[in-house]
Amino acid sequence: MAIKISISGVRGTVPDALTPEICLDFAKAFGTYLNSGTVVVGTDSRPSSEFIKGIVFSGLLSTGCSVIDLGICPTPTVGIMIRETKASGGMVITASHNPLPWNGLKFMREDGIFLNEAQAKHFLNIYESKQFKQAASRGVKTDLTGIDTHIRKVMKVINASAIRRNKFRVAIDGCNGAGSVALVKLLEKLGCKVIAINCNPRLPFPHDPEPIPENLNELAQTVKIKKADLGFAADSDADRLSVVSEEGRAIGEELTLALAVKFILKKNLGLSSKNKIVVTNLSTSQVIDDVARQYGAMVIRTKIGEVHVAEELKNLRGLIGGEGNGGVIYPQIGFNRDSLTAIALILNYLAASKGKLSTLVSEMPHYEIFKTKIECKNQDEANEFIDKVKNVFKGEDLILTEGVKVLLSDGWVHVRASNTEPIIRIIAEAREKQKAEQLIQKILP
Ligand code: MG
Repeated sequence: MAIKISISGVRGTVPDALTPEICLDFAKAFGTYLNSGTVVVGTDSRPSSEFIKGIVFSGLLSTGCSVIDLGICPTPTVGIMIRETKASGGMVITASHNPLPWNGLKFMREDGIFLNEAQAKHFLNIYESKQFKQAASRGVKTDLTGIDTHIRKVMKVINASAIRRNKFRVAIDGCNGAGSVALVKLLEKLGCKVIAINCNPRLPFPHDPEPIPENLNELAQTVKIKKADLGFAADSDADRLSVVSEEGRAIGEELTLALAVKFILKKNLGLSSKNKIVVTNLSTSQVIDDVARQYGAMVIRTKIGEVHVAEELKNLRGLIGGEGNGGVIYPQIGFNRDSLTAIALILNYLAASKGKLSTLVSEMPHYEIFKTKIECKNQDEANEFIDKVKNVFKGEDLILTEGVKVLLSDGWVHVRASNTEPIIRIIAEAREKQKAEQLIQKILP
């Protein structure tokens, strides 16, 4: 039994931890927070999503909200449909990359961005107070046009005919998740020969839904056997994307954003430097800085969490941004990490380069990144550990936006308390594997 309630929403195993009562109260709290507006609701493909949806609808309706049911669709589609329908907010029923026994709720505001820290605190206060609004229900409408609307928006901002001319052979692993239908549809619209594996949202997840290399063996094999030009894999709510090269090699999710950023910066060579802003979080690979420098762009680093990157992108009118976990955010489409956008940008890049995916990867600077975690009981213990790290690297360039990030001439290490779990996350990156490992060893207790 495990439940995680944080500013990023709620997640838990169903139904023992994420109980029907908790789901109902969260929906009532959100309806109260939005003061009975229209709420768009999308779900991932987990069997438990369907029953949670019924409970969420009841909660929202009891507070006087009007509900638009989007059915199963990617998380970024919900963000797009909030703006499209001029709704007051949106809810996504998903546990993202967590395994099948889990589910969760995420909350978006009227611009499709997740609630920020201050908004989430206010919202969680309503949840805890149990002082929910009661008003006459305004009904549920079903709208299954979300995926088509999303694809239309993507098609408008890329060179679809250039992609079509290449008739790419693309293997796609949807993990039987919320992107299964949307991703195949997008690829077909782009004239690709689609080799779909695990793209049936009615079936259970065939593997752990986090799109990290160790979960992509089947996709990598498929790319090789079917001689595909490349392969794509999304997590269960299709916001994160990973790429497999034509050699059948999972290139690591850090490079998804790097490829998308490089393509957009290449496309915008004529823009002045002050208009070339890339936003990413503190823990994302330095590849982004190297690529940005090459094209005279500026990189802004935020705290961890999609909302921080999205708000900064919106406020600074950034060109593109995202997270190193395979999350690309392209403001021309929306302010969520979006696997559909990532696929389209990477295929557009491949079409423009007239080369192979492995060539595009080999042109990127190479880094070794290591991610690990240690348990900690509470915030005090985390702070104590972070202070120790500051001491170890006394005199070095320290960034204290969140936890501590140490910038060295040949690498960096970032140590921070997790927002959602009682752990400390440690990420180190360097050009050589040994150096990155050394950095982590230097601070492990
Ligand atoms: Mg996700």
